[in-house]
Amino acid sequence: MFPITLILLQNSLFIAAEVDIFKYLTQFGYLNVTQNSQTDISNSIAVFQEYFHLSVDVVANNETLDLMKRPRCGISDNPEAEAYSIGNRWAKTNLTWYTGYPVPSSLVRNVINEAFQIWQNVTNLNMQYDYTKPDIIISFDRLNHTNNYRCRKGQCSLPFDGKGSVLGHAFLPSVNHSKCLEIHLDSDENWYYGLDYNISNGYISLLTVLTHEIGHVLGLGHSGVQDAVMYPYYSNIKLKLNRIWIMDLETKKLTMKNLSIYTALPFLPYFDNISAVYKRPSGDIALVINKQLYLINDKNYKLKHIVNITNYLIPFNDKKIIGAVNTYVGKTIYFFSDNYYLILNECNLRVESYGYISKDFVGIPSGFDKVFRWTNGMLYFFQKDRYFEYNEFTNSLHTSDKFSLMTFGLSCPHISLFEQLKSLLTNILRKTNIQ
Ligand SMILES: [Zn+2]
Ligand SMILES: [Zn+2]
Repeated sequence: MFPITLILLQNSLFIAAEVDIFKYLTQFGYLNVTQNSQTDISNSIAVFQEYFHLSVDVVANNETLDLMKRPRCGISDNPEAEAYSIGNRWAKTNLTWYTGYPVPSSLVRNVINEAFQIWQNVTNLNMQYDYTKPDIIISFDRLNHTNNYRCRKGQCSLPFDGKGSVLGHAFLPSVNHSKCLEIHLDSDENWYYGLDYNISNGYISLLTVLTHEIGHVLGLGHSGVQDAVMYPYYSNIKLKLNRIWIMDLETKKLTMKNLSIYTALPFLPYFDNISAVYKRPSGDIALVINKQLYLINDKNYKLKHIVNITNYLIPFNDKKIIGAVNTYVGKTIYFFSDNYYLILNECNLRVESYGYISKDFVGIPSGFDKVFRWTNGMLYFFQKDRYFEYNEFTNSLHTSDKFSLMTFGLSCPHISLFEQLKSLLTNILRKTNIQ
């Protein structure tokens, strides 16, 4: 296999004339400069492909190269992290911001206001303009550029690259940081300053990029999920920040509430992916976010406890949680990346057993994206646009097909699978008085 991989890789490097694969993977966190063997490069291409949910074939194929050629954020990815990475947070909820030199036009100012408003709508943060003591400073810079002296001295370690490729970058909070944090935007881009999405070709929405960069200064790392605000690649699509889909289990209709999840569950931390939602034997609803278990009362939707589950999931702490389902007998099955699962006893929160998904859930593909239990008791595993219906009691794959909403007898056009899965939140929200 090894020589074949080499040939394919060399071939792909030839095809990739417009992208220096080694430089690219090093720049964005997939390789360090000492890892320059062909095997290292092949492995990191695979990690890149897996992180962005591309076909993992270890070579820089056209799909991979197309993504690499897209404009993006200059901050490295963290492919080892849970569905997205989260850093340190601010110790306060009132934050101030300021735009440095050059003094922006009112158009730019409107965009900045809107971008902060988007985050205010979905968090408990309050963000105000304040020249005297800003927590966040936004500036437009080009090529080699300096930091703002108020936040940190010297040259920025991430020079810009002219028009295209890297659009901006921002600093993440460090432990106990007290100084301001900066957002640098590449002034060589053709920025679009409108608040809408009618953007001409060749222009980049400042609102989209700035909203993403604000996520960094709030402590969020990148997400490999295409719909996520913290997805590092730029696209002209309208931002969606934790909007809530409500599925009515009686009428089987989906509706979207233009409502922040923080309105219903204000105690949640910043996140852009819920790893799992399930119901415990006690009736409590369990949300798994950032490897913390948020136990919520199923009657009044108040927070009961937060449990750090890294202690309970020790065998697989370095794996991503893909999902979790309850078993009706006081146990929960957690599914992890790399083909592992684990059964947690919900009474004492101890690991009961663990094993390989491919061995104990015969027929379920490795690398599935989501899993949940539907009202018919079956487990549904999703991989890209396919679903696998699994009968846990007969331990057998019941059926597998291309997914459509009709699978569940639902009708609602033009929404992605990712959005459809958000409808799982129904179980939490449909009884609350948030209408
Ligand atoms: Zn970024
Ligand atoms: Zn910079």
